[in-house]
Amino acid sequence: MTPPISALTIAGSDSGGGAGIQADLKTFAAHGVHGLSAITALTAQHTRGVIAVHVPPVAFLRAQIDACFDDFDIGAVKLGMLASAEVIHAVADALEAHRPAQLVVDPVMVATSGARLLEEDALEALRTRLLPMAGILTPNIPEAELLLGTRITDAADADAALDALLALGARAVLLKGGHLDEGDEVVDRYADATARTAFRGPRMQVDGHGTGCTLASAIAANLCRGRGMRDACGQGVEYIRDALREGLRPGRSDVLVLGHF
Ligand code: PLP
Repeated sequence: MTPPISALTIAGSDSGGGAGIQADLKTFAAHGVHGLSAITALTAQHTRGVIAVHVPPVAFLRAQIDACFDDFDIGAVKLGMLASAEVIHAVADALEAHRPAQLVVDPVMVATSGARLLEEDALEALRTRLLPMAGILTPNIPEAELLLGTRITDAADADAALDALLALGARAVLLKGGHLDEGDEVVDRYADATARTAFRGPRMQVDGHGTGCTLASAIAANLCRGRGMRDACGQGVEYIRDALREGLRPGRSDVLVLGHF
């Protein structure tokens, strides 16, 4: 049977298979959605870190995106690692031309290992070109701090940041709480123009790799399957918890790669 709706990830490749395009495609498949990919950057990477990054010419990225839109019925687009301002402008131009029904923006900036995945001077392009188009923005705490230029150190800061992030132009925001100390819980805060929800779960004591990519892809897959935004986020958070529980350690470090079973 051919799935009628496809999801497109525009993101970076992780040779170690834990994050980026590889995580996105596994997540789409686990949701029964056909996955398409346009690769912004190639990383030479394993569970211990990023060794090298190569960004192909943006004209080739545009050719990948156009090829996908020319043949498939695309229900949602997910953006991950965008590497540079030049890539952001190329992606924004392509999205303005193709106008996808749903756009999930995961503002990938720095890997857990510390490697920079977005050049510092690209933040302004992200703010001005992509956020106004976004159906949802899914920053973690360090990414939200960079987007807002403020520190987020407790629950009150996070609540205030949620409003400030929404004001940047995306129609909804999911502020991921994994980096914030709120006791035994992880609190992911959701807001759109009319609703505000906190998704709460027990903190899992694992060093997971690719969780952000996977959550944004799970939201995109749920949108493809017709769920509303808040529900798609709630389902996505549940999916991450299951994938962490099913995680594996395929490399020579303690880093856990999510299981998509
Ligand atoms: N590599 C690529 C291509 C990514 O897109 C990302 C995150 O989005 C990472 C690495 C970092 O993943 P993590 O911080 O979960 O290790």
